[in-house]
Amino acid sequence: MLLRQLRETMAEPLGSQARLDKIVGLIADNMRADVCSFYVLRDDGALELFATKGLAAESVHMTTLRLGEGLVGIIAAEAEPLSLDDAPSHPAFAYRPETGEDPYSAFLGVPVLRAGQTLGVLVVQNTERRHYGEDEMEAMLTTATILAEMIATSDFDNLIKPGSDIDLRRPRMFTGVSFTDGIALGTVVLHDPRVVVTNFIAEDTEQEKSRLNTALERMRVSIDAMLDHGDMQPSSDHRDILETYRMFANDRGWVHRLTEAIENGLSAEAAVERVQNDTRARMMRQTDPYIRDRLHDLDDLANRLLRVLTGDHQGIGRNLPDNAILVARNIGPAELLEYDRTKLRGIVLEEGGATAHVAIVARSLGMVAVGRAQSIVSMCESGDDIIIDGAAGLVHLRPTPDIEQAYIDKVKVSAKRRAHYAALKNIPSITKDGIEITLLHNSGLVADLPMLDDTGAAGVGLFRTELQFMIASKLPRLGEQMDLYAEAMAIAKDRPVVFRLLDIGGDKVLPYLRSDSEENPAMGFRSIRLGLDRPGLLRTQIRALLMAANGRPLKILVPMVTETFEFRQTRMVVNKEVDRLRRAGKAVPSKLELGVMVEVPSLLFELDQLLPEADFVSIGSNDLVQFLTASDRANPRVAKNYDPIGLPRLRAIRHVVDAARKYNVPITMCGELAGKPVDALALMAVGMTRLSMGPASIGPIKELVLNLDLTPIRQSVAAALSDGASGVPIRALLQEWIEKQGLPI
Ligand code: PEP
Ligand code: MG
Repeated sequence: MLLRQLRETMAEPLGSQARLDKIVGLIADNMRADVCSFYVLRDDGALELFATKGLAAESVHMTTLRLGEGLVGIIAAEAEPLSLDDAPSHPAFAYRPETGEDPYSAFLGVPVLRAGQTLGVLVVQNTERRHYGEDEMEAMLTTATILAEMIATSDFDNLIKPGSDIDLRRPRMFTGVSFTDGIALGTVVLHDPRVVVTNFIAEDTEQEKSRLNTALERMRVSIDAMLDHGDMQPSSDHRDILETYRMFANDRGWVHRLTEAIENGLSAEAAVERVQNDTRARMMRQTDPYIRDRLHDLDDLANRLLRVLTGDHQGIGRNLPDNAILVARNIGPAELLEYDRTKLRGIVLEEGGATAHVAIVARSLGMVAVGRAQSIVSMCESGDDIIIDGAAGLVHLRPTPDIEQAYIDKVKVSAKRRAHYAALKNIPSITKDGIEITLLHNSGLVADLPMLDDTGAAGVGLFRTELQFMIASKLPRLGEQMDLYAEAMAIAKDRPVVFRLLDIGGDKVLPYLRSDSEENPAMGFRSIRLGLDRPGLLRTQIRALLMAANGRPLKILVPMVTETFEFRQTRMVVNKEVDRLRRAGKAVPSKLELGVMVEVPSLLFELDQLLPEADFVSIGSNDLVQFLTASDRANPRVAKNYDPIGLPRLRAIRHVVDAARKYNVPITMCGELAGKPVDALALMAVGMTRLSMGPASIGPIKELVLNLDLTPIRQSVAAALSDGASGVPIRALLQEWIEKQGLPI
């Protein structure tokens, strides 16, 4: 009855205030309440009385309560309903004389939520003491769902106090983790866009229930089908998530709450949204990461159900606005690459770590990226303005004009800096005291190779061949691999490219490659271990590399070597393929070099056996530091606790550098450390002269090199690393020196 009247009121040609006045009147009549009031949360944290039936009319838009103040403030802050027989006796009751509130005892207030955020509070009051029943509470919550939609989608801005805005539209800042440097200003594109519900009120409750049941059934079937899909890895996160979905989809409590909302007069999709609102509100207030994750899963499931109900099957890769900034809970590298890269400026994730693969792909595409921006997905809408400050790991959602201006100025400065860096590209990379530092790119996609011309880098120090495999939907064939390598060499021209053999496994999961469940994938069946165990895969890749070289020099790097015999075995596979090529009368590389990655600590103690056999060495600091400190590189909770250039880590790196010098083997650093100025300085200080990094880091590191007197800092760091050192952290020592020298960092 009430809902039908509400629907009619929404269709009437009324002004916003008149419509609200009519709505509170209808609610009061239907609830047999003496008062019905509606408060809206403003961006300054005040709850403004927006409409009332029963309280003094003059107090509308005049009376305010702060968040947490009075009963209304508590409901807004906690996002929970409150029902009291005798409100004035509640300790938090805040009396506002201008409203004429004195005679009312009984009180029922519910939060008006949208996407889990409090938008306002809806209250009914009665003179006599009375207890509002469960049914009345439900009816109020249902009405609140509709009010929320009305407020969020219509033009109420003109009603609110001038200079204020609805809280939902408030500017927000998120502090996350930096994935890449750079600043991007643009427009939010939700990776998993919220489904817009337009049909809120049930015409026929039974029909809505049957729509819900059909949709639930379809969703259950599709989840089962995905789980049964033969290719899915038993151990993958994806599978875990689907298992949780299946559990929720069959959860009686959830289904019961959905059905109850329909019985209260909502359409099936509005019922899902109503229940999802409660989930989101709980999610935002939840500090336990496990429970929050489960609530996230439930939220995702509700989205799925909404899509089934509304027939909304918007796919990814759709039309993007210019300067699009993708916002997602998480995204795989392959999904990221489906978007139009000419329009995508940046990406913000709720999850992920700085060395996660999506971060690496974003970096290699020159995209600004920030991770770990908590709860951002539910706080933004596609089309919102957004600014990402990559270096600081900050995200400004709906920025104020002065923040926006500050960033526009910053962008101008950084454009100048870029121009400045571009001007350095042809200057030889030599320190002031004459030490040559070779700067190289980390790469992995053809898309990022042309940047070699812009940065003036000497070549590619690390080409991550697994990226091609990660973005493909099935295993790339010999020809496809060969084409990619040939194209990479063609773009690089006479600059060397170090092709690293497939480094899959660990967090680099290939959905089409079946593998057994592993408790500890980072230390599991991955990389060259997998390559040697599945010689077909390794042989094919080596064959593709040799053929792509077509007589030119070729450099191949072997990842995750743990013992020298693995390197030897790989060399044997390479030699066999070279012989095979020669026998077939095809061109073999004019010079073939096989290098080893030092990223498993065990190798540190076997360098005397290993190095005489290697043509070059490359240190992978991401894995080396992860394993030296036993801290998952993708988990910032632990990874950020240990400074990668802390004494033990830098000693380990220096040990490899010294050994490489002893055996006269060229050595490069290709982990993320090489692209960070202070860390790069530490590396140069222990004798590294070849640094491979994301293309965006070349300019700043080159600038550092050109202004550097390396010899004195080498001596200080050597002293600090030696036994009986002063105890000053290396980073502090370097930073102090940078300041003293006025180095450009
Ligand atoms: C490393 O471990 O430092 C490295 C360069 O390899 P990846 O990041 O691809 O594991
Ligand atoms: Mg590695």
